[in-house]
Amino acid sequence: MSERWYKEAVVYSLQVDSFADSDGDGCGDLRGLISRLDYLARLGVTCLWLNPVHPSPLRDNGYDITDYYGIHPRLGSLGDFAELVLEARERGMRILMDLVVNHTSDEHPWFVSAQGSPDSPYRDWYVWSDTEPSDRKQGMVFPGEQEETWSWSDAAQSWYYHRFYGFQPDLNWANPAVRAEIRKVMGFWLQLGVAGFRVDAAPFILEQTVPGVASPPMDWTILDDWRSEVQWRRGDAVLLCEANVGAVDVPKYTGENPEGANDRAHMMFSFGLNARLWLALARGLAEPVVEALQSLPRLQAMAQWATFLRNHDELDLSKLTADQRAEVFAAFGPKADMRIYDRGIRRRLAPMLRGDRRHVELAYALQFSMPGSPVLRYGEELGMGEDLSLDGRESIRTPMQWDDGPNAGFSDAADPGDLVRPVVTRGPFSYRTVNVRAEQRDRDSLLRWFGELIDTVRECPEIGVGVCSVLDVPTPPSVLAHRFDAPEGSILLLHNLADGAVTVDIGRLPGTEGRPWEMFADGPYPRPAATLRNLSLNGWGYRWIRLRRGRSD
Ligand code: BGC
Repeated sequence: MSERWYKEAVVYSLQVDSFADSDGDGCGDLRGLISRLDYLARLGVTCLWLNPVHPSPLRDNGYDITDYYGIHPRLGSLGDFAELVLEARERGMRILMDLVVNHTSDEHPWFVSAQGSPDSPYRDWYVWSDTEPSDRKQGMVFPGEQEETWSWSDAAQSWYYHRFYGFQPDLNWANPAVRAEIRKVMGFWLQLGVAGFRVDAAPFILEQTVPGVASPPMDWTILDDWRSEVQWRRGDAVLLCEANVGAVDVPKYTGENPEGANDRAHMMFSFGLNARLWLALARGLAEPVVEALQSLPRLQAMAQWATFLRNHDELDLSKLTADQRAEVFAAFGPKADMRIYDRGIRRRLAPMLRGDRRHVELAYALQFSMPGSPVLRYGEELGMGEDLSLDGRESIRTPMQWDDGPNAGFSDAADPGDLVRPVVTRGPFSYRTVNVRAEQRDRDSLLRWFGELIDTVRECPEIGVGVCSVLDVPTPPSVLAHRFDAPEGSILLLHNLADGAVTVDIGRLPGTEGRPWEMFADGPYPRPAATLRNLSLNGWGYRWIRLRRGRSD
């Protein structure tokens, strides 16, 4: 159903400069991406989320923008972007863009002008303080890389606020002119055909910064405005908020009244669930996921979660306790250089799970079985690895590995030294073995498995739209047994988070019609009887079982 497309979407997140280089300059570009859309369509993804594509000095991978209406010349032109939208649509894929409007680059002409004179029309577009704010060294998002949140500007002879790096001054969202301009930005890209925005750093946009005030009030009307703007411009466009906030606050992002209509953002990343999934994987126990599912804030009917395991940043474990975080570090990021900001891990999933195919499958089957729409980071479908010799969050942004030729097929003509980032050439995750071409030829590859996983999810709309419940039956502690029910049908999902075979007794379930059948599993299992007794599960095994089908076959 198109009006709820985002509830059944499979989102693929990618950074254009790392995906495919069409002109041989060593940097991925829009034309390169267009040339690989057939690959993405074959994989089965329905929506592409592009990390920032705008002009930028690139001091934070494009999250420092100097022109919201343009395309960075190294990625192509606006014409290429329009072509991308069209070509993607032809293949049934929508495009989401990053909307990075908490801050601009300090090289944005607005900030340059604002700094230059107190009389600049842009002065009040940013957040200033004439005196040194008492919270100058509080609230840093990148500890270790960032020392303060208020910096002195010589040019302006004033302090300016920046929640992120010093080169990313915060826009003043209390200023109606800023609000009007950003609405125009959104309108511009919607007019070009994008299907919505991933709202970067949403809580910091809403926060009404006052010098020296630790918990400033939030201005929710910003999201109200955006929702009506988006809706008016394009009925089916969505807002997907990045907000790593507590359970109480989540529903405010999707609508003031949890019982009422979804009248703010359509989608929220499920950060809380993400951290608990990793804790569960580290322990080999279902309990953290059970707890997370049971305490998952209820969203309004038309709002949706976006689930993920790895994204373009560090794996952020800040919502775990220090002890829990230490457990995840010990399991998946044991060395200091694998970790970042004391709260996270800067690795890709396959190496975190020691390249163990069964464990990787279990982890992704589990993610894709969580309530919401799954988001997959480029290269994860191949089992790509990271490059820890690169700085900070760069480690997980290496070029897509297309084949075993020069530069992994990412860039045919460039000198390897000119690549935007080096290709992973060493170890078990080298492009020589982990690449699209090799995995397409191999029927048993992880890539082929992902194709099947995505096909199955698309055949199980219950996961996107249904009611999720954890079964109230005794299971081995490593097993998560949950189900989804929707008018479309009912499915039962079993995941074994430990590396030892187990047997599960579920018993006859209400809502089962006829004999259940297996839709997807880690290997062949005997067909379950309607009593759902004696169901075996391999170590790190999973079984997705259809209990009922509501739509006609
Ligand atoms: C993005 C980061 C970025 C930061 C500043 C975050 O929320 O996910 O990649 O560095 O915003 O824009």
